[in-house]
Amino acid sequence: MEGFTETQVLIIGAGTTGTAIARELSKYKVDAILLEKREDAGMGETKASHGFIYSGGLTAAGSLVMKSVMLPGGQTAFNPRSRKTQMEHESIKEFPSLAKELEVELTRDRRLMLARDEDDLKMLKVAERICEAMGTKITWLDREGILELEPHVTKNIIAGIADEGYQLSVYSWDWAIALAENAQRNGVKLMLLTEVIGIKPLDGGFLVYTNRGPIRTEYIINAGGPYADKVAQMAGVCDFGLTCTRSQMLILDNRVSLLNQSVSLAPKPGKVRTLRRTISGNIQTICSEYYPVSDPEDTTTLLKWTDESIAGAQEMIPPISKKDIITSYVGVRVFNTRDPEEDILEVSKGNPRFLNAAIRLPGVSVTPAAARHIVDLLGNQGLEMVTKSDFDPRRKRIPKVSELPDEERKRLIAQDPRYGHIVCRCEEVSEGEIVEAIRRGARTVAGVKYRTRAGMGRCQRGFCGPRVLEILGRELDIPMTAVTQMGGLSRVLLHRSKELLESGGLT
Ligand SMILES: Cc1cc2nc3c(=O)[nH]c(=O)nc-3n(C[C@H](O)[C@H](O)[C@H](O)COP(=O)(O)OP(=O)(O)OC[C@H]3O[C@@H](n4cnc5c(N)ncnc54)[C@H](O)[C@@H]3O)c2cc1C
Repeated sequence: MEGFTETQVLIIGAGTTGTAIARELSKYKVDAILLEKREDAGMGETKASHGFIYSGGLTAAGSLVMKSVMLPGGQTAFNPRSRKTQMEHESIKEFPSLAKELEVELTRDRRLMLARDEDDLKMLKVAERICEAMGTKITWLDREGILELEPHVTKNIIAGIADEGYQLSVYSWDWAIALAENAQRNGVKLMLLTEVIGIKPLDGGFLVYTNRGPIRTEYIINAGGPYADKVAQMAGVCDFGLTCTRSQMLILDNRVSLLNQSVSLAPKPGKVRTLRRTISGNIQTICSEYYPVSDPEDTTTLLKWTDESIAGAQEMIPPISKKDIITSYVGVRVFNTRDPEEDILEVSKGNPRFLNAAIRLPGVSVTPAAARHIVDLLGNQGLEMVTKSDFDPRRKRIPKVSELPDEERKRLIAQDPRYGHIVCRCEEVSEGEIVEAIRRGARTVAGVKYRTRAGMGRCQRGFCGPRVLEILGRELDIPMTAVTQMGGLSRVLLHRSKELLESGGLT
């Protein structure tokens, strides 16, 4: 067909699901395009994820109790034979080596669960039973044992349980960006700011309409996250529904040193109260309830949920204070209505060339196994899968000046003096890192922030914001007034003040 972009496989959505599938597919001699409507990979549900990678332990047990309100009868659903559980087991083993190949930061953490009264103790025993069923080991601690590990924890505790290292953590957006970069390196074409607006089934494939022109493809993989139902509807093959719940998180200044590991209160159905240290050392509160929401874009933060989160945090660590908050955000979790405990990873019943990859929480945790499953399904559906001999599994991360040993830092600055100019003082991000992020595809302030951490510190862009705008404008060769926060209409500067004054100011 003339005048169309053509490909064999079109992946819609560059969250952790779509990017993992793209990377898996890039091991084969297959033409593939990864389409994303936003300005960068990992900016949908993925961006708000806690990035816990787990397949057991207290993170999983707490999550099962908490989500039990979503199931008929309120039972805690743990099914060791479910595909989701199998994929979690399979995937967690792969994360350490994958993280090494892709140079993604990954940490291993202990989680403590605390009891303040007899009711809490009963819930710890429930968590213990779930852990036993999952084959993960926990240890009981008395009050002194807990205070030794966490000296600032509430004095009301009577006992606690701990697991050892069943919880890995990544920054989920980092994971998605790394997978996308490696997929690109191995031949997948990434098209950002490209939204699918219609799909027409054809003989042997589809014609996909986007805001940047049509694409002819033999197969579609629908990894549209909270929009996976809409994407399937466009192709006339939707046989599942999605529901969303939102919750608000807080990030505290990384100078607040009141916590050493992840700590939760005894789990309760529908209620979560967890504090954790992020990879960069900030305390994150995960203490807001899940509220149903119909619009996945409804991420407005509200003071009442900030108050709710701080109150929840203080139940565990009383000295935590509102003045420590540097930012807050809302995450929207997506569940399918067909089976709230499973993913929809299948060939559509309505069209054998349309594959759904609608993943539920924990979605980051299952990315390697889920991606392999989808690629296997593609092979079963008739796509010729010949492995590439030159697949390169490695990806180099952007050098982090603040973490380099002195000698390496000096060498880097000698090669490119821009690595010696610190732009973001809170997170110690250099101009060289920002320029490299732009070279790799960052087009917006948010793109730079998620790739480098510029603007993520205490001052929240107060100092580095204008400098980042300037560098984006210079490197992209666009006026600073055209730079956006996150694509679309989100311009940061509306006018140059001199031009505004000369034109008589705002009317
Ligand atoms: C607060 C919170 C905490 C979580 N914690 C964890 C955790 O600790 N561990 C864990 O494993 N999981 C966790 N999850 C779940 C995990 O984040 C998700 O399961 C996973 O990120 C889903 O990724 P995805 O790629 O399927 O969806 P998304 O990240 O939403 O990606 C879908 C992409 O498709 C794009 N898209 C949609 N429609 C179109 C279209 N028409 N055209 C082009 N592009 C389109 C979107 O822009 C989006 O980028 C958490 C989620 C939340 C919200």
